[in-house]
Amino acid sequence: MNMICLKNIRKSFNNLEVLKGIDLQVGQGEVVAIIGPSGSGKSTLLRCLNRLETIDQGCIEIEGEILATETADGGCQYAREDKARAICHKMGMVFQQFNLFPHMTVLDNIIEAPMIVKGIRREIIIPEAEELLRKVGLAEKRDNYPSRLSGGQKQRVAIARALAMKPDIMLFDEPTSALDPELTGEVLKAMRQLAQEHMTMLVVTHEMAFAREVAHRVIFMDNGEIVESGTPEQLFGKPQHDRTKAFLDSML
Ligand code: ADP
Ligand code: MG
Repeated sequence: MNMICLKNIRKSFNNLEVLKGIDLQVGQGEVVAIIGPSGSGKSTLLRCLNRLETIDQGCIEIEGEILATETADGGCQYAREDKARAICHKMGMVFQQFNLFPHMTVLDNIIEAPMIVKGIRREIIIPEAEELLRKVGLAEKRDNYPSRLSGGQKQRVAIARALAMKPDIMLFDEPTSALDPELTGEVLKAMRQLAQEHMTMLVVTHEMAFAREVAHRVIFMDNGEIVESGTPEQLFGKPQHDRTKAFLDSML
């Protein structure tokens, strides 16, 4: 079964068509990197997956459950609110700007959603949160406020916070782009570890070395379309399209 199945996704903002018929399937445990120039629709695609944006047309299935389906008139019908919410809870998302709650400690940031959204009791979720903090190497930061953390530490807390909801799929939108270069390594390490544990991951990134090393498949998006996709060896080694070649050259 596909973890993510997208068919003919179309999305416009006013008169600007940002996604022009995206088809994509992601299997269990697969790590897919999405690369492409700024403005090509990468963030919008991720945001449509978890309903931060709604699509105009097409079909979204997550783990075989229909979030949105195409209607006969070429529009799109979403699942009922409770079902749509349950489907979206299967996905965790990490943004470029960490989006931690500034008035809460690291621990409280992590336990907030499981407690509020899932109703899990504090004494159950705290040990799980502590385990996640150990996993991202931040056990000792448990009681600190985000303002006391470096960017790399904040982003690792954001990853732990997403994992606390026990997602089956993790979506990353340029998780290292806001970081000083010397801090990207610690975040990429946590992501690499997740990939080794067979988490299904969709990662928008400019980190070509990471995409090459960790991704099973790399997708090149440009101007609202998937131009080309393949293994890292294929896409980086033998790009088929001029637009892919030009983009890869610009990244050197
Ligand atoms: P990327 O992540 O690849 O840089 P985005 O998905 O952020 O691209 O943006 C794709 C296009 O959609 C851009 O032209 C951007 O300006 C536009 N866009 C994104 N979000 C909105 C929005 N909420 N309202 C209007 N235009 C938007
Ligand atoms: Mg973006």
